[in-house]
Amino acid sequence: MERISVAQARKEESIGKEVQLQGWVRTRRDSKGGFSFLELNDGTCQGNVQILAEATLPNYETDVKKLGTGASVTVTGLVKQSPAKGQATEVQAKNVTVHGWADAETYPIQKKGATMEFLRTVSHLRPRTNTFGAVARVRNCASRSIHDFFQERDFLYLHTPIITASDCEGAGELFKVTTFDLDKVPRQGPQIDFHSDFFSKPAFLTVSGQLQAEIFACALGKVYTFGPTFRAENSNTPRHLAEFWMVEPEMAFYDLNDNMTLAEAFIKRIIQDALARCPDDMKFFQERIDKEVLSRLEHILKSEFLRLPYTEAIEVLLQSGEQFEFPVKWGIDLQTEHERYLTEKKFQRPVILFDYPRAIKPFYMRVNDDGKTVRAMDVLVPGVGEIIGGSQREERLDVLEQNMKDKGMSLEPYQWYLDLRRFGTVPHSGFGLGLERVLLFLTGMANIRDVIPFPRTPGNAEF
Ligand code: ATP
Ligand code: MN
Repeated sequence: MERISVAQARKEESIGKEVQLQGWVRTRRDSKGGFSFLELNDGTCQGNVQILAEATLPNYETDVKKLGTGASVTVTGLVKQSPAKGQATEVQAKNVTVHGWADAETYPIQKKGATMEFLRTVSHLRPRTNTFGAVARVRNCASRSIHDFFQERDFLYLHTPIITASDCEGAGELFKVTTFDLDKVPRQGPQIDFHSDFFSKPAFLTVSGQLQAEIFACALGKVYTFGPTFRAENSNTPRHLAEFWMVEPEMAFYDLNDNMTLAEAFIKRIIQDALARCPDDMKFFQERIDKEVLSRLEHILKSEFLRLPYTEAIEVLLQSGEQFEFPVKWGIDLQTEHERYLTEKKFQRPVILFDYPRAIKPFYMRVNDDGKTVRAMDVLVPGVGEIIGGSQREERLDVLEQNMKDKGMSLEPYQWYLDLRRFGTVPHSGFGLGLERVLLFLTGMANIRDVIPFPRTPGNAEF
């Protein structure tokens, strides 16, 4: 007898096979005719398979008729064509073995219509719901697309460190890593003395693998990192996590235009794969979560992303006649409201903004000839706002050093980074894409806490 998944059992080609299925009961219905239907789910797909359990089963009265939502079972039986509409197959049970009961009174996700907020308090059980099963499968699909996309283009998958002594952005949103006893931190005067700490210096969880990816791009050409990233920013927003997954490609000999072309192809590929590989889950999101998600994604596949210089975007915003909470003028860092106006209202397609003011961007971005702007780019998409931030990197040693001095940085800890410009420097570019931002956009889910298995946000690190 073959052990198959619910996804396989739902397919017509399984008809006529004796199979074994294992999973969790979603519902039980008893018929007057002396038999019951069990809806069985094992997480392999959005749909359930219907099990026909007849009263002739030896444990029909003792077990089958007591099964409720959440109980786990092994079923063996014959896959048949289903007489009912909306499903190709059903399984006529020859044996039903119960592994674990789930008490209907106390099972926390028994009732339909539980809110997302409530489900976050039962993160250990929410993967058993339709919504979180679908999110997990689409997340898996996007992760696979990320590797496929870059591997097919001969990018090298690079593992960058999680613990680092360099603060990539100088942003001060870092989690510290230490083995000090917090009650007895050694000091030298008012300063903490790090000599006896594990790394003999302050160390942090990484906010980006970019600087390390640049090292490898400047030796191996095209690389990408894909891993957890940490930001201690206290932003309690539906789009920020303290721990998220970032994809960061870094390419030698790519200029900003090459970078934009890659970013556009990359986003389109992730969308295409989700639509092609997870059609039932995507249909579920369309019907139950966001009525516009499919049309939005299909529209994006057909659109060319608009490439717009920051300076022109400021003009557009100034002339929009919109009342923004944060006033617009040249030099500001754009807020979500500005980004969403541009991509959703004004242009109604993804927008790649580029050539941002030098003062609001990090030290490593390439300075333009005007001296005022840098070769930065942000990709904005309808529904979410920014999902990618990237740039062409400054490859000229003297300009880079001057830029760092202008920003008040100490050059000493970055000598290794400057060496990449001292010895065989090359033009190069890269970007970072937040996996969870992509998932918001793919699924139409409203809160980033609901597209990662175990969200870490201010005050939350359970499970
Ligand atoms: P934002 O302005 O939205 O905070 P950022 O400018 O800090 O983003 P970058 O430093 O450019 O973002 O990071 C690259 C990408 O990583 C972003 O485009 C976004 O997709 C993702 N990202 C950044 N911060 C977070 C976060 N706290 N939670 C989830 N994703 C994030
Ligand atoms: Mn941020």
